[in-house]
Amino acid sequence: MTMNCPDSAPHAVARLRAARLERSAKPFLARGGSRRVHCTGCRLAVSHCSCALRIRLATRAGVCLLMHDSEPLKPSNTGWLIADVVADTFAFGWARTSVDPALLALLQDPQWRPCVVFPTEGVAPARVLGEAAFAPGCDWAAPHPAGDCGAGAGAGAQAPAARPLFILLDGTWAEARKMFHRSPYLERFPVLGLQGGEATRYRLRHASQDDQWCTSEVAARCLQLAGDARAGALLQAWLAVYAERYDQARQQRPAQPDSRAHQRLAALRTGGDARPQLPVADAGAVRAVAAASYRASAAAPMPDRVALPAGV
Ligand SMILES: [Zn+2]
Repeated sequence: MTMNCPDSAPHAVARLRAARLERSAKPFLARGGSRRVHCTGCRLAVSHCSCALRIRLATRAGVCLLMHDSEPLKPSNTGWLIADVVADTFAFGWARTSVDPALLALLQDPQWRPCVVFPTEGVAPARVLGEAAFAPGCDWAAPHPAGDCGAGAGAGAQAPAARPLFILLDGTWAEARKMFHRSPYLERFPVLGLQGGEATRYRLRHASQDDQWCTSEVAARCLQLAGDARAGALLQAWLAVYAERYDQARQQRPAQPDSRAHQRLAALRTGGDARPQLPVADAGAVRAVAAASYRASAAAPMPDRVALPAGV
């Protein structure tokens, strides 16, 4: 059962979720769900609704989420949180045999310089970008044959006019790998490998290693690389608040609006300290909260129906 929240308007991921639900032949069973009424704006139980705390920012960079089949339906999907914070978030469902024309149009829009965020192991060197490619004064969109600033350095003291569009492949690791290798329309774009080495993967719900990041953490890192430091910090804080409330709702404990996570978010909302908490791997508190939530849901699966429109 769901309730429409007056504080929320559907964003790209919410619209994709609605479209995916319409196509569902049977109800989606969410692991870790509950039988309580959920808010359509934040997906949390209405008792833990966080919509009033949300802040959306205009950023220089954009985020394009390519989401595997049922990913938009999962309450623990963190791509949703990116769309909460970053105004220019785009979301498309991925299919092996077809591609949304709107996605192709976005990738051809001259205001954007797309790059795919994915581990660069096995990627042709000419496509590889390292984090250093985004250093001040470096034209990241220029060729970076060594994966670092290299040939891009000195290309101009000013940033390129085109805005970075970070393409994130949202799914399990196996699904993301399939999307990367079976999407020929992505092959002409550079590949940004984030620091953390080749062990860095999308962590999603079930962290098997401490250096695995969830999708919103990846986006936060990309935003900070692109100079959108406040948005990156806000996204990190927003993930912490969401993970905390998600866990509390699941355990039927009340929300704690004065917790450290909420205080951090409040400070950023009012334009306070936006110094990055990254590298992400050092954000221990965030990771502990999120990982505990996800581990708990993995350990005690409680299938339930969530957010189903009438008639589905
Ligand atoms: Zn809500």
